[in-house]
Amino acid sequence: MELVTAALQGQRHALARLLSLIENDGREARTALSALYPHTGHAHIVGVTGAPGTGKSTLVNALAKEIRAQGKTVGIVAVDPSSPFTGGALLGDRIRMSDLAGDPGIFIRSMASRGSLGGLARATADVIKALDAAGFEIVLVETVGAGQSEVEIARTAHTTLVVEAPGLGDDVQALKAGLMEIADVLLVNKADRPGAAKTARALEAVIHQHTARRRDPHVWQPPIIQTIALDGTGIPEVLNAIYQHREHLLSTGMWEVQERARVESELLTVLRQELLARLQAQVGEERIRAWVGRIAQRQVDVYTAAQALLDKESEG
Ligand code: GDP
Repeated sequence: MELVTAALQGQRHALARLLSLIENDGREARTALSALYPHTGHAHIVGVTGAPGTGKSTLVNALAKEIRAQGKTVGIVAVDPSSPFTGGALLGDRIRMSDLAGDPGIFIRSMASRGSLGGLARATADVIKALDAAGFEIVLVETVGAGQSEVEIARTAHTTLVVEAPGLGDDVQALKAGLMEIADVLLVNKADRPGAAKTARALEAVIHQHTARRRDPHVWQPPIIQTIALDGTGIPEVLNAIYQHREHLLSTGMWEVQERARVESELLTVLRQELLARLQAQVGEERIRAWVGRIAQRQVDVYTAAQALLDKESEG
């Protein structure tokens, strides 16, 4: 595919068009993704997540600048599962990143809701693959919004940063959102604000609880780093922690283990979708609706109906 070749050669316009193609799914996207796939597997994918207002966008901006200062290239994917708008949805983030605009070593892409969370997670994973193939050494994936969606999207990352900030109420927000489980590096941003040390101590206590029983050098201990994203304080330390986590994954063999788990989950997701689509095509909308009617009228239960569809209907 010409578009793929041009994108792999670093033509930004081609890459942008390729990403749109991938986002819109379809057969052409599949062809492109299969041509891209052999070129993937080099990028370090870093998720950035946390409650709204903690400073994620500002942090991503600061991290990207520092990565560039170190001479590495960086792709940025900003994902907003709560917004139904495409393209312009994260304009605010783009504007804030405008001091990075024009640098060929940076590529920024915003993504909005695909109608379903699963659809967004898959489109995001595919966009990350394209940036990886195009040669971006680090891909930062920022998720806007809170909750399940962040956990889902974080699974595509090698390293997950969870961002906390003081003054968002007494509780540690990340705890409420269930994000502590997925944190590889914990940031207390807005360290210029009162209460940052207290928030850091609260996180420390939770981490300690989690890891006290397994003082194993093979188990990664998530560091807690205080940052001021606005002026870059702590940003080099965050990058160091990111690099250390990568080294840890590689040296313990966890990189490979995680890769396989990711691939397996991706394969099963695709198979599930394909099998369902195949069955729906074979059986037809009408017959499925008829079964729905029977279930709704309590003539048959959902398991029996599903089994019948699989056993009989699909054969003829
Ligand atoms: P997001 O919603 O998590 O992406 O947060 P933003 O990056 O949009 O930041 C939310 C607000 O916090 C903005 O007004 C930022 O300027 C501000 N902010 C970000 N980082 C810091 C920081 O380190 N210190 C202070 N005082 N404000 C910050």
